[in-house]
Amino acid sequence: METELKRMMDELEGKVRRLEIGVSRFVRGQEMTILVDLDGVLVAPPTPEIERGIRIAVGASSDTHWSDLPNVFLYLKPMDGAIESYRLLATKYDMHIVSTAPWGNDSAWTDKLKWVKRHIPEAAKRLTLTHRKGDLIGDCIIDDRKKNGVESFMGRHIHFGHEPFFGWKEVLEELMPSRR
Ligand SMILES: [Mg+2]
Repeated sequence: METELKRMMDELEGKVRRLEIGVSRFVRGQEMTILVDLDGVLVAPPTPEIERGIRIAVGASSDTHWSDLPNVFLYLKPMDGAIESYRLLATKYDMHIVSTAPWGNDSAWTDKLKWVKRHIPEAAKRLTLTHRKGDLIGDCIIDDRKKNGVESFMGRHIHFGHEPFFGWKEVLEELMPSRR
């Protein structure tokens, strides 16, 4: 009981602290910080051909999830309009990339950095790999899932791929309305 109470107090203190930081940034007129997910938002899932090719090359069984295939991230393409949209948002917002790497796929941790360096080199130092996205400070997170801390994130969640944010077009209309 006491341990549970202590855990809840710690969690609450963390939330208050993040809120304080958010408010002070807002008061000082700092630009909004936007966190963007990789898989399913900036990075497209593998095509069946790519997935099959890697499975054959590494001898992976069909019950291995694609994200656990070695080096699979090196072969993934950006989502439609993702790179252009990231760069456009970066002209107005403080942009960061936040992604969860599979614990069972060591190469994914390096390959995600390589992917960012290849496709958005200016964002290489803006990449955070974590399973606790809710611990990060930001005003908005663009993510296709609610998992890995997104649900407890301090700011707004733009649920990418879900109504009304079906793709980058809708996200840009929301965050860069002056472009209309
Ligand atoms: Mg995702």
